[in-house]
Amino acid sequence: MLDEHAVRQLLPMDECIELMVDALSAVARGEVHNPLRAMVQPPGEESVLALMPTHRGGAARLWGLKTLAIFPSNAARGLDLHQGFVALLDGETGETRALLNASAITAVRTAAVSAVATRVLARGDARTLALLGAGVQAKPHLEAMRAVRDFERVVAWSRTPGRAAAELAGVEEAPTAEQAVRAADVVVTVTSASEPIVRREWLRPGVHINAVGSAFPNVRELDSATVRDAAFFVDRRESALNEAGDFLFPLREGAITEEHIRAELGDVLIGAAPGRQTDDELTIFESLGLAVEDLVAAEHVVARANAENVGALVSL
Ligand code: NDP
Repeated sequence: MLDEHAVRQLLPMDECIELMVDALSAVARGEVHNPLRAMVQPPGEESVLALMPTHRGGAARLWGLKTLAIFPSNAARGLDLHQGFVALLDGETGETRALLNASAITAVRTAAVSAVATRVLARGDARTLALLGAGVQAKPHLEAMRAVRDFERVVAWSRTPGRAAAELAGVEEAPTAEQAVRAADVVVTVTSASEPIVRREWLRPGVHINAVGSAFPNVRELDSATVRDAAFFVDRRESALNEAGDFLFPLREGAITEEHIRAELGDVLIGAAPGRQTDDELTIFESLGLAVEDLVAAEHVVARANAENVGALVSL
């Protein structure tokens, strides 16, 4: 059993970025079975239970299950919205091999996936980062973005004035999302906003956006014109078509069709699909999060924990 501290210690960002390349490439090669997650929400209940199973085939078979209870009111309690665990089950016998804190894995692997997308899709000369949001996801995203581009400026905005400067080291706080976005070559959105916080007319040519916060069909962070005018990349088509408000709002409005998705990121990584085409192209990576990302990260953490004698041994 590995707690939050152990996971953070054993999953440094630079290692996790390379693990996410492996995870997304495995999806593209058809080596993992990663069905759409089940979101369970009783009528009238504000919390959601997300069940994220996955199976990796081949020589090192393994089952993974992330169980996340998402409590929107946790922010007011000073707790992570995302609670729960990642379980790894033996691919030969089904025995439970490990239980790991899910908050830490979610925070690091989500930012690491955004780093992979930025490395592949953003312009090489990107120098200014706009970070919208200053919650749990913001800090690892700042670290992840700095790992893949030499940003000279980071302009951050959060809904509560003063929060971005207080939470994030080395950033300039912008008074509005617009001011942050207008300055940026790369934009990261990590908020729980339900209405657009990025507008098309604020974006310079050639900007890359990692849209991370909107994970339900009825909420979004990007306006329709931004999505319409961009080359749109996803972690998984099926996830985007079922869960991504950023994509589903313009789809419902008729501004785009399902063919607007240019590619899954894994296909770009293995060379099966093109990435950015021109310096002026707008690119979006829509991140919903995949169970295979948790499986690969957890497997790495468990291997290191065994080697370094970290964690508690429990017989279930
Ligand atoms: P936090 O609660 O820690 O932070 C939320 C951030 O969103 C804060 O900066 C908050 O601003 C801001 N915010 C909240 N409501 C609004 C609003 N109505 N308009 C504008 N800003 C708002 O959440 P996390 O950092 O853990 O998660 C951020 C988002 O990322 C969530 O939507 C979550 O579901 C998503 N997520 C996506 C993952 C993926 O794999 N793609 C994985 C994990 C999370 P302030 O506090 O300043 O008021």
